[in-house]
Amino acid sequence: MGVPLTKYCSTPGCTTKIRVNYKYCKVCADDRRNQKGWGTEAEMRFLDGLGTWNPERPAMDRTRLLKGYYEGVMNRKRWGQIDGQKVLDRVRGELGL
Ligand SMILES: [Zn+2]
Repeated sequence: MGVPLTKYCSTPGCTTKIRVNYKYCKVCADDRRNQKGWGTEAEMRFLDGLGTWNPERPAMDRTRLLKGYYEGVMNRKRWGQIDGQKVLDRVRGELGL
């Protein structure tokens, strides 16, 4: 018994149940990233910050995270307003690919 630790996604009309510590379900979270306000510049800022939160070994973490990011976005089909080619070119450049 007890209160279930789930609630509905915050997107109006979405009836996906999610854990209470999340605001949106995975699909809606991705959609929001692809909508207005998250374009190429925001993606670049995200890349700028990648790995910078660990001051002890930022370079090592950054390379590892960039590689993970790169492998992930290679299969990304929905770029929304993001210029995917530009983002990939930048990551390839940084990784020396
Ligand atoms: Zn949702």
